[in-house]
Amino acid sequence: MHRDQLSQNGHDFIDDAYISSLINNTKEDGQRVREVIAKSKEKTPLSVEDTAVLLAAESPELVEEIFAAARQLKCDVYGNRIVLFAPLYIGNYCVNDCAYCSFRRSNPDALRRTLNQDELVNQVETLQDKGHKRLILVFGEHPRYDASFIADTVKSVYSVKKEHGEIRRVNINAAPLDFAGYRKVQKAGIGTYQIFMETYHHSTYRKMHPADTFKGDYLWRLDGLNRAFEAGCDDVGIGALFGLYDWRFDVLGLVTHSLFLQDRYGVGPHTISFPRLRPAHGIEMQNDYMVNDYDFKRLVAILRLAVPYTGMILTAREKPALRHEIMGFGVSQIDAGSRIELGGYTEAGDAQTQVAENEQFELGDLRSLDVVMRQLLDDGYLPSFCTACYRVGRTGEHFMEFAIPGFIERFCTPNGLLTLTEYLYDYASDETQAAGERLIENELHKIHDEHMKDRVRQRIEQIKKSDKRDFYF
Ligand code: SAM
Ligand code: SF4
Repeated sequence: MHRDQLSQNGHDFIDDAYISSLINNTKEDGQRVREVIAKSKEKTPLSVEDTAVLLAAESPELVEEIFAAARQLKCDVYGNRIVLFAPLYIGNYCVNDCAYCSFRRSNPDALRRTLNQDELVNQVETLQDKGHKRLILVFGEHPRYDASFIADTVKSVYSVKKEHGEIRRVNINAAPLDFAGYRKVQKAGIGTYQIFMETYHHSTYRKMHPADTFKGDYLWRLDGLNRAFEAGCDDVGIGALFGLYDWRFDVLGLVTHSLFLQDRYGVGPHTISFPRLRPAHGIEMQNDYMVNDYDFKRLVAILRLAVPYTGMILTAREKPALRHEIMGFGVSQIDAGSRIELGGYTEAGDAQTQVAENEQFELGDLRSLDVVMRQLLDDGYLPSFCTACYRVGRTGEHFMEFAIPGFIERFCTPNGLLTLTEYLYDYASDETQAAGERLIENELHKIHDEHMKDRVRQRIEQIKKSDKRDFYF
C-alpha cells in the first residue's frame, strides 16, 4: 500500500546488510572503545561505525566505562534537570494490525473509544490539577484521527485552563502524515511530532506490520519525519520499540536515522524514545529478542554517548527502580502519574492497577506525579516543567540550547526552578513541598551570576505570594 507523495528524494536510507555486517564484524576492542568514549566526551555525535564499537563491548569493565561516560556526559550537557510530562490517549480505533499492540484491529476484545469534547476537557483538567504542564497526545491510526482532528484536539487542549493550570506544550505521537497534514498540526502549535519506526530491520518490520495495512509501508513511515521537516515541523522525535529485533541493530538504526536528519535538514531529532516491549492484552508474541535490564541499560548509555545533544525519553513502561537507575545515564524526560487507558485520568485516578482490556500495554510504574516528584527531589534532581525554548522560538536549528556556553545556568536552571516553584505551591503534598524547598535553596547557591540569582528569587516570591505564573527566561 502506498500513499501520496514522499519527501524530496525520499528513499530508503536503511541498509540492513551494512548494519548487520557492522554488528557481526566489529569485535570488542578496549582501546577503540576508549577512543570512541573520548570523542563522545567532546560532544561530537558518533558515527554508526563508532557506535558499533561501543555495542561490541561485552566485558563488564568496559561496559562499566561506558556507563560512567554516559553519566558524565549527562551531567555536562544536561545538568540535573529532568523534564516531566504525561501521555494523554485520545482514541484507540486503529486500522493497523501491529503484532505487539492491543489496539490492533484484529483484537476484538479491545474496548474502542475516542474521547469526546467533554471527556477531553475533563482529562485535561484532571492532569492540570495534578500539576502537569506538558502532554503527549496519543492516537491510533484511523481515518477519524486525521490531521484536522489532531489539530482541533491540540487547540482544545491548549484552551483548557483551570485555576492556575494550563498545558503549555502539546506533543504528538500519531501516524505519519502527508505535507498538508503536517502544516495543519504545526499551525495548531504542536511541540514535538513523534513517530517510532518500531524496528528498522526490514524483514522484522514486515513480520510485525501486515502488508495490507498503512503501517505495512516501511518507506512511508521512515520518510514520515522528512515530510514533517519539509512541511515546516522542525521539532521531531524518533524511536524504536526494543524487543522486536536485535537491540544492537535498532540502536544503529536510530543513530543512522538521527544522522540522516541532521545531514539533510541541519537538525537532528529533538528526542529519541526507546520503549521496551510490554505484555499487552490479547497479544501473545513469540520472540527471541526481549531485552533484559542489563542490555537495556547498555543501549540507553550507548545512545546517550552517540547523540549527545538529543533529548532522551524514558517512559513508565519501566519499573520505578530501573527508571531511577537509568535516569542517571542521560535521560532528559520522563512521564509520571501516567494512565494509558482512554479516560484513565478521571476513571482510574491513582489506582495502582490497570484494566487490561482498556490498555495498550502494561505499565511498570503507576506511581503518582507527586510521589515521583518527591523521589526526584530527594535524589537531587531538578524536576522541570519548562516549556520556554519552544515558546520563544528556540527550536530546530535555532535550538542552540547546549551549544552556547552557560545556557543551562542562564535559562534551564532558572526556568526549571520557576516551574518547580509553581508545582510546589499549587499542587504538591507537604512532604514534596518541603523536599522541593530544600532543593531550590541548593540550586540557587549554585547560580554564579548574582543578578540572575536575585531575579529568580524575586520571581519565586511572586509565585508564592500572588497569582502570577508562567515566568520564564
Ligand atoms: N498509532 C500510532 C503509531 O503506531 O505510530 C501512534 C501511537 S502508538 C499508540 C505508540 C507507541 O506505542 C508505538 O509506536 C509503539 O512503539 C508503542 N507500543 C505499542 N505496543 C506496545 C507494547 N506492547 N509495549 C510497549 N510499547 C508498545
Ligand atoms: Fe495501531 Fe499504533 Fe497500536 Fe499499531 S502501534 S496497532 S498503529 S495504535
